[in-house]
Amino acid sequence: MSAKAVILRLLGDLALKQAVVTSIEYFGSHFVWIQVQGTREQAASYQPGDKIQLLLPMDEVRTYTPIGWDADGQTSLLVYVRGGSPASQWAEQVRIGDPLRFLGPERSLPLPEGPLSMIGDETSIAVAAAYQLARPESVACAFESDVDLSAVTKKLGLRPAMVLPREVGLGHCVDLAQWARERHHASGARVGLTGGPTLLKTLRGKLREAQVPVKTRAYWAPGKTGLD
Ligand SMILES: Cc1cc2nc3c(=O)[nH]c(=O)nc-3n(C[C@H](O)[C@H](O)[C@H](O)COP(=O)(O)OP(=O)(O)OC[C@H]3O[C@@H](n4cnc5c(N)ncnc54)[C@H](O)[C@@H]3O)c2cc1C
Repeated sequence: MSAKAVILRLLGDLALKQAVVTSIEYFGSHFVWIQVQGTREQAASYQPGDKIQLLLPMDEVRTYTPIGWDADGQTSLLVYVRGGSPASQWAEQVRIGDPLRFLGPERSLPLPEGPLSMIGDETSIAVAAAYQLARPESVACAFESDVDLSAVTKKLGLRPAMVLPREVGLGHCVDLAQWARERHHASGARVGLTGGPTLLKTLRGKLREAQVPVKTRAYWAPGKTGLD
């Protein structure tokens, strides 16, 4: 139980918004795609790149990225399940009809108009999908991952330019940087970079060296919980 969760629970409806789970789809053992019915008011304040902070039933708060939010109040979340953690446990047990209580939508990774190269890991598929939905012609994506992303990216309409396994020496960051640099030279694409700290630090350095504009947001970090 986290202090933030306890405060949010005490504040209740004064702070938290509410929605309902309407559909759940599993992609292997690693991803759960959760469709959610919220309200028109929630949709009205949404922009791609936004986050919500979910109050989980076990009194923990975790951050997720809504993929679109249509005028009728429908959105969806893609949860990466690593097993054993509070969010994994919740995503494996969530059922249609369950209420969701959350803060947001709040700005997290606003990116300027124009072509984008979205780079990240398993936690970044949703933000890439959110931008792709908003700007179908101008978004491309690439990921580092050791799990199979093909089914889930296909379902969300993403066609990653590359999915590279994590390497100890981070050689894959050279390939990701080169891809982003080529896209930047060809179309002016800026980079939205999200995920864990090692990818962020290494790739941000390489992109800055290559003078490719990049905006980063850490989505998780070893030993920390509930980053937002
Ligand atoms: C703005 C924002 C948007 C996000 N959007 C999404 C999203 O749409 N989908 C999604 O799946 N995640 C997303 N995340 C990441 C997600 O909030 C974290 O991975 C979160 O820690 C998961 O909670 P947990 O209960 O599984 O693990 P926690 O209990 O929070 O973490 C326990 C430990 O596990 C490790 N850990 C946490 N996450 C990872 C990981 N991904 N890979 C390896 N080790 C990890 C860390 O060492 C951490 O200390 C987002 C994060 C932020 C900040």
